[in-house]
Amino acid sequence: MSKIIEPLRGVHDVLPAQIAAWQHLERVAREVFANYGYQEFRVPLIEHTELFKRSIGDFTDIVEKEMFSFIDQGEDHITLRPEATAGIVRAVISNGLLREGRLRIWCMGPMFRRERPQAGRYRQFHQIDVEAFGFTGPDVDAEMILLSARLFKRLGLKGLKLLVNSLGTPACRAAYREKLAAYFGAHAASLDEDSRRRLVGNPLRILDSKNPDMQRIVADAPLLLDSLDPESRSHFESLCAQLRSAGIEYHVDPRLVRGLDYYTRTVFEWTTDALGSQSTVCAGGRYDGLIAQMGGVDTPGIGWAMGQERVVMLLEKQDLPHLAARPQVYLVMVGGPAELPGLKLAEQLRDAWPKLALQINLGGGSFKTQFKRADKSGADYALVLGEEEVARGVVAVKPLRRELAQEDCPLERINERIGMLLGLKVGNDHG
Ligand code: ATP
Ligand code: MG
Repeated sequence: MSKIIEPLRGVHDVLPAQIAAWQHLERVAREVFANYGYQEFRVPLIEHTELFKRSIGDFTDIVEKEMFSFIDQGEDHITLRPEATAGIVRAVISNGLLREGRLRIWCMGPMFRRERPQAGRYRQFHQIDVEAFGFTGPDVDAEMILLSARLFKRLGLKGLKLLVNSLGTPACRAAYREKLAAYFGAHAASLDEDSRRRLVGNPLRILDSKNPDMQRIVADAPLLLDSLDPESRSHFESLCAQLRSAGIEYHVDPRLVRGLDYYTRTVFEWTTDALGSQSTVCAGGRYDGLIAQMGGVDTPGIGWAMGQERVVMLLEKQDLPHLAARPQVYLVMVGGPAELPGLKLAEQLRDAWPKLALQINLGGGSFKTQFKRADKSGADYALVLGEEEVARGVVAVKPLRRELAQEDCPLERINERIGMLLGLKVGNDHG
């Protein structure tokens, strides 16, 4: 026998038994985005490596050690996208979408980061992303957060905590950077290797360190929030007032800096206690300078990304039996003469009811075997077609989940009968 090929480290399969939670999350997300007037946007999984280096920042975890990069046969330096914002910014610039000035979009799909795999941390994972371009005021910051709050609410997820902070303008960050450099410089002997490199390159990144020893030093570092410029302060206060008026509970966390360089002013995270150390389920912020920095017309931007694996883990802790995908009807066909009429019947029912979930028996088998399969499929009804039924022009309808008698239904009335039994509606309504 040949050797089995194992999956790569840190990637995972989503099995059919797990798909219900994924589809539920994605369906609810699409609904909520439509509620707020956001449109879907799809961007490539591969981009020039340069794009991520320039936008995410050289001294970030992602660019320093997590990117899957390679040189292709044409000598292009390519990276599998570690996050969506950079590609979206590239795409709105290269497609001239900012000419209208304003844009509200979302995107969903796989991301790649070469990190140490753990529960809730993978090398290929999935994000739901939202971005808005062209809005300067704090109203869009509030909208971004409300959108995420509504998504969690529709999903029925409770106990999530919202953390917010402001990073101010680049100028005020530059002044803060000096203060931080002085503070960490005084502790240089106790810094780990990453932090010592960042002390020279970008001391703000030390605040983002996951090393507990660094976090102890970080705890006493000066706070940016204390030296915020007046406009950023009033922007932040207005956002907080809007959150309060919308009834969204939040906590100001002056240590929150986020792992990417491009953020300005508002940053936020939703965290949970239910997933151990992988506690952040959604995170984002404003990036007013990024588009100009990437060669576009100076346009403010803001966005967030939600880790789908982590949200699915939370959903799986809840009971979601109603989501399990199963057929409504299983067609039992016994004997050669029943198979062609059976296939015809199945296609006729699918024509009549576009939303009907009907599974037919494949590969023959006795009545007993086929009924076992029908039962295992989880269907509500079995339709039974044997040689005798074919001869009489009927199909037997057998309820599988309730103690009701089996009935014979003339073939010409079966569409109507199934529609009635399952409460099906004609047409392609969303629902
Ligand atoms: P962390 O601090 O957990 O490394 P991050 O700051 O690197 O997160 P972002 O770049 O803000 O994460 O990504 C947004 C969200 O995507 C995270 O809050 C998390 O839910 C999810 N996420 C990020 N990296 C991974 C990963 N490797 N595996 C699974 N989900 C991830
Ligand atoms: Mg990370």
